[in-house]
Parts: sequence; structure tokens; C-alpha cells
Amino acid sequence: MDSKDFHHWSARTAEWGANYRDGLRERPVRAQVRPGDIARQLGDTPPDTAEAMEAIFADFENIIVPGMTNWQHPRFFAYFPANAAPVSVVAEYLVSAIGAQCMLWQTSPAATELETVTLDWLRQALGLPETFTGVIQDSASSATLAAVLTMRERALGWQGKQSGLAVHPAVRIYASDQAHSSIDRAIWISGIGEDNLVRIPVTGPTHGMDPAALEAAIVRDRQAGLLPAGIIANVGGTSIGATDDVSAVCDVARTHDLYIHVDAAWAGSAMICPEFRHFWAGVEQADSVVLNPHKWLGAQFDCSTHYVRDPESLLKTLAIRPEYLKTSGSAGDSGAVIDYSERSIPLGRRFRALKLWFLIRAHGLDGLRTMIRNHVSWAEALAERIAAEPDFEITSQPMLSLFSFRYKPAGADDLDALNQRLLDAINDDGRIYLTQTRVGGEFVTRFQVGSFAGEQADVAFAFDVIREMADGLGAD
Ligand SMILES: *Cc1c(COP(=O)(O)O)cnc(C)c1O
Repeated sequence: MDSKDFHHWSARTAEWGANYRDGLRERPVRAQVRPGDIARQLGDTPPDTAEAMEAIFADFENIIVPGMTNWQHPRFFAYFPANAAPVSVVAEYLVSAIGAQCMLWQTSPAATELETVTLDWLRQALGLPETFTGVIQDSASSATLAAVLTMRERALGWQGKQSGLAVHPAVRIYASDQAHSSIDRAIWISGIGEDNLVRIPVTGPTHGMDPAALEAAIVRDRQAGLLPAGIIANVGGTSIGATDDVSAVCDVARTHDLYIHVDAAWAGSAMICPEFRHFWAGVEQADSVVLNPHKWLGAQFDCSTHYVRDPESLLKTLAIRPEYLKTSGSAGDSGAVIDYSERSIPLGRRFRALKLWFLIRAHGLDGLRTMIRNHVSWAEALAERIAAEPDFEITSQPMLSLFSFRYKPAGADDLDALNQRLLDAINDDGRIYLTQTRVGGEFVTRFQVGSFAGEQADVAFAFDVIREMADGLGAD
């Protein structure tokens, strides 16, 4: 592609993107294709000769786009959102055009310094104390892996990296049975092993782990000669928003000298609103916290902010500085400048701070707070409306903007199968998109309000679709 074509296609792409966003309500939310439908339309072998951009772009529009699930759709109510606010897309285009690899301060000083400043802006917005500094990771999974490795190293006197785990007592990590699957994977990858992930049962309306059961498990493990290392607390679990009492869990961590990491990947964004901060009360005592501005807040994927109270322990766990990575004229992360790659697992780093900076400036914290407050109140109103239907029940109350429900018409026997059929019918219809989970072993449908482009009318429309689809099932 020469410079003239680059001008042309950049402009055309930007135009396409804006039109795509404008037209989302006319598209189905979930891709309406079967496995193999897309691959079948693509060539089996790569071209030896150059193809025209017109042809490539036409295939993109005709083959690829229909096979995309439209995550920015205003009626996306599945999983959690992965909002890419238009302003963050603009920033991402600039990042992509510059194409810098931002592993060290000197590989792009502005990227490093903007990361520091933006992280601190967000820290202030979240009401976290000044003692927290951070790093932008690619995902909450990476942040949690870094936290689990830090727990492991701290418990092993920083010797695990050198000696491996075989010569030490078993390292034990504690989390609730509502913890995200990224915690299991961190336990696998860190070599600790799933057998050493102790699952604490949850209790009460917030589905938090029982602090007394947590403490008893730690004491029992210590007596058995095992090595308790850390706790992972949930704030807004993925299934139904399970939330631990962070303050009580931090007390246990402190009493037993364990590291505590808080996984607030989704719900953390809501903490820019002071009235929701009770959900993570005590967080200032935690050792680390992760939240994903790429979920609810609107920073184009990926952007996961990982705050730590003591960056030194993260550096002792992850930093490595071979000659070819030394930063000339600086002392590296321990000195005058920060080399953020010393705080993350991959060496190479995208410039993730720019979109967060554009987003916060273009919307202001007030604009973002209004969006989150709207989503929470629309979700609560919808849950009430569904609860008022005699043949539906709410199976988990709204936690922020997430709740779950179940279709339960009188006389129906296999409710799991019926609810699966209802969900399939809704998603095959395509006007809205929902996903499932299990509550008390039963198949239920999750509903979360979180689309950056969504309006109150879209949530009301979802009610109509659910009602219509349920009535349609009855007629079969
Ligand atoms: C989404 C989510 C994760 C995983 O986030 P990634 O950034 O995709 O790794 C972890 N924990 C919770 C509670 C989540 O909602």
C-alpha cells in the first residue's frame, strides 16, 4: 500500500466505522451463522500475487462482518460489555498509525508517562488512596496471574523463581467458589496447582465468602504444614455478581500475613460513582486490585488497570533486565523512570493509555458516571418488571446492572430445557443478545445492562422480546 492508497483507505475505513456504529440497531446482535460458514467462503491458500484493496474490502464487508457478533450493539446484554466508546476508537486508530512498541520508557517516553498520569487520574476517580500505583495490563487474567505469582514469591521468600516449587511446602491460595476461571488458570500457570486453590463457600445475599470459613481453612492448612500465601477477593463475580466483604477478608489476610488481590474486573468501573463504593469497602487495605476499563467504562479492548500498593513486590516477582533491555541514561523502573514491561508478563506492550486519556477527557467523569448510573437504574427497573410477570422469577437480584431470571410457567416440568429453548429462541431472533449461567444448579438467563450506546428504550425493548419469545414457545 503506497501513501496515496493509505490516505484513501484510512479515510474510507473511518467512514465505514462511523456508519457501522450508526446502523447497529438494524443488525442482529449475535452473529447468525453456523460453524464453518465463514471459513468456507475464504480461500484455502494464500495469494501469490497482490490483490486489489477494493476486493479485500468487499470481502471484509460481505464475508467477515456478517460473521461478527456486534459487541457495540445497544442491545448487547450478554456476558459483560466490552465497550469501545467512539472516542477510544479514534485514539486507537492513532496508536495503530504510530505503531510503537512501548515496553520501556525510552521506547516511547510519552506512552510511559501518560500511563502513569492516566492511571493516577483513574485512581482518583475510583477513590483509591495515593498509596496505589499501577500498570495497564492486557487483561484481568494477566493481572491476576501477576498477583498470584507475587503471592507465591512472597510466601517463598522470593525463592520460587529460582528453586521451583518442588523443594517447598505446598503454596495455598484462597478464593470463593464464585471466583472467575482466570483464577484457576493463574493457579495452573503459576505451578501452584488446582489442588492448592482452596474454595471457600459463599453465604448471604451478596454471595460473599464466609470470613470465618476462610480463617479456619488458613489455620488448618498451616497446622498441616502447608504454606498459605494469598487470597483473591471477588467484587462483582461474572456469574451473578458475587461480592466478598473485602474489609473482612482483608482483616483475615492481615492477621495471617497473606497477600490479598481484589478481582473487580467488571464492577470496578462503577466505583467512579461514590454511592457504589460500599461494594468494595476496605479495598484500600488490599495489596492489589484489577478492573477493566475495557468492560463497562468504554476504553476499547484491551485495557485492564492493575493497582498495587507495593510495586516493589511486583518488580521482585517479574522484573528481568538483560543487557539488550537496559535503558541508557536511566536506572530503569527502580530509578528515575518506569519501564512498565517489568510489571507485566509479556515484554512487548501496546500503547493502551491513550484511549483511556481520550475517553476520560472527552466524556468527563460526570459523563461516565451518568452512563453507569443509568445502566444500574434501568437494570433494576427491568428486574422489577420481569419479577411482576407471574410466569417469570428473578433468580439473583441486581448487583449493579447484573441480574438473572428464569421462565417458570405453571405446569412446566423440565425448566432447564425450557429456559435453554427460550434463550436459543431469543438469540436466534437476534434483536437482543443474552447468555446463561447456573444458580443453585439451575439453568438461568443473565441480563446485564452495559452498552455504551444503549438507551432506556433498548432495555424496555428487551422486555418485549423476552415476553414475545416466551409466549411463542408456549404456542409450539
Ligand atoms: C471479565 C472478567 C475477568 C477476565 O477478564 P479478562 O480481562 O478477559 O482477562 C476476570 N474476572 C472477572 C470478575 C471478570 O468479569
